[in-house]
Amino acid sequence: MKKNILITGGAGFIGSHLVQRLLEEGERVIILDNFHTGTKDNLLSFVHSDDLEVIRHDVTEPFRIEADQIYNLACPASPIHYQRSPIRTVETCVLGPINCLALARDIHARVLQASTSEVYGNPDVHPQPESYWGNVNPIGPRSCYDEGKRVAETLFFDFYRETGTEIRVARIFNTYGPRMSHGDGRVISNFILQALRNEPITIYGEGSQTRSFCYVIDLVDGLIRLMNQEEVIGPINLGCPDERTILELAQLIIELSGSQSTLEFKSLPADDPVRRKPDISLAQKTLQWTPTISLEEGLEKTIAYFRPIAHKYPPPEKIPK
Ligand code: NAD
Ligand code: UDP
Repeated sequence: MKKNILITGGAGFIGSHLVQRLLEEGERVIILDNFHTGTKDNLLSFVHSDDLEVIRHDVTEPFRIEADQIYNLACPASPIHYQRSPIRTVETCVLGPINCLALARDIHARVLQASTSEVYGNPDVHPQPESYWGNVNPIGPRSCYDEGKRVAETLFFDFYRETGTEIRVARIFNTYGPRMSHGDGRVISNFILQALRNEPITIYGEGSQTRSFCYVIDLVDGLIRLMNQEEVIGPINLGCPDERTILELAQLIIELSGSQSTLEFKSLPADDPVRRKPDISLAQKTLQWTPTISLEEGLEKTIAYFRPIAHKYPPPEKIPK
């Protein structure tokens, strides 16, 4: 029988891929989104499905929707977006989970939270296992998101302990792929757009900081596996352990896109994590999940997505200091 699945933030980058996959699997999907950073364009290839409903609503306001499962993805995810209105970001991080959890408790649905590797802050344990409690600045420019997401995890576990609500918590590491927003300043969309326009590639700092990038199709598979198994509730890391420096990433994108771009070094934003790489042994063991798409293959697909639209948009904004 078809399940009814509510996805908050379903019009965003990751959300739209999750919606698409669930529709392909024959489920009924309801998107709840306020279109703050998501777009209708992200939904174009499946918007006419009879199994899809789209509701414009803010997750910080209570809602009542019948569903068997809820994925809570609603939240701006890129530093530019979440730092533009930090108070609003904290509200979304905290009130969104409260509303999703209260609904899940009342209708006996299972609810999954899209948490983040940012809960580890600037980690002094490497790679990061779920047992690591993190190193987060509580008052810096990234704190609205990092601490907001940490409180969200707290709320998930308090609802679980106090009310028996069925929860799942995924800690998502840097994810990329088609439908990343062209203007949100994230490193992969920035570098690909700059490369395709033969503009200088903006490296913040010396480019020696590392990230580990997961292709969105792999990530979505991990989220669905986590939702549909009984062994673990989380938190569980979902990401690709292939760690690269930002400089290596820039050179790879220049090569794969056949670009003439040069490198331009800029100052490093405050509290920018120095190293990040997930320990995914828990996901491998309990979800039998491991990313399958290499960075080179994923970048080629992402470059192919951006190539026809690269000249359509103005250069992305700078991250606020
Ligand atoms: P995104 O900005 O593309 O998508 C977020 C979606 O949430 C958008 O459609 C936006 O309109 C919607 N939204 C934002 N605030 C809302 C509100 N108050 N009410 C209703 N809808 C709202 O971001 P994404 O990259 O798709 O990220 C999705 C989720 O995954 C986020 O919760 C993010 O924190 C988490 N995450 C993403 C990454 C990543 O690398 N992309 C990494 C870690 C965690
Ligand atoms: N970055 C960069 N140039 C850019 C955009 C980002 O060098 O044009 C760096 C940024 O400082 C960070 C890394 O790339 O060290 C990843 O940035 P992103 O915003 O994509 O993700 P996050 O910092 O949230 O992991």
